[in-house]
Amino acid sequence: MRRVGRSAEERRAELVELYKELHAEHGCPLRATRTNLVFGMGNADADLMFVGEAPGRDEDLQGKPFVGRAGRLLDELMGEVGIERSQVFIANILMCRPPNNRDPLPEEIEECTPYLMRKIGLIRPKMICTLGNFATKTLTGSPMGITKVCGRPQKRELAGLDLTIYPLFHPAAALRSTGCLNDLREHMRRIPGLLEELSTPPDAPEPEPVGAAPTSAPAASQLDLFG
Ligand code: SF4
Repeated sequence: MRRVGRSAEERRAELVELYKELHAEHGCPLRATRTNLVFGMGNADADLMFVGEAPGRDEDLQGKPFVGRAGRLLDELMGEVGIERSQVFIANILMCRPPNNRDPLPEEIEECTPYLMRKIGLIRPKMICTLGNFATKTLTGSPMGITKVCGRPQKRELAGLDLTIYPLFHPAAALRSTGCLNDLREHMRRIPGLLEELSTPPDAPEPEPVGAAPTSAPAASQLDLFG
């Protein structure tokens, strides 16, 4: 069910607290090998989230998600359907780069996923586009791989919210394969329509006011990216 009661401003403030909390001692060994923790960036009250796998080299160096070639492709494809990065929240399953971009380990996913769930619970998106296999399997809770489920919206309850998971090919895969690129482009064209359908669910509770500007200055530069 969709939680109500806390304003967008309150939820954004909690997101900032979570960001600070994550810089305290915790968790998995990737902390020792990363350059920067990549918390995520974008609109803290977004209807749409994109969730990828893990930071790569560029993301690790800059502390921001999807800023390399794959990120530029994601921006381009979002732009084709009238979506700007500032309107969405972009994150990954893991917030720290696995050495040499190896696949995330099950224990790393287990350690980091609860933080992603807290983000989802605070941002309260209507839809999450999972980018690639790891994000799709983690958030759908299904072993079905991305090639079988890409472009197929699925209803899930995550972080106490009823929302839609929309699996897509990872932009990095689209950079390597014209077929993946064509599929990704076609599937992304459906996003505005899917969001429109989700904006007026028949049994939706009254929405709370959203869009309030933050009142406190972010403590770190990455938080400047929370709209
Ligand atoms: S990957 Fe996640 S759990 Fe592991 S150190 Fe980074 S933030 Fe913590």
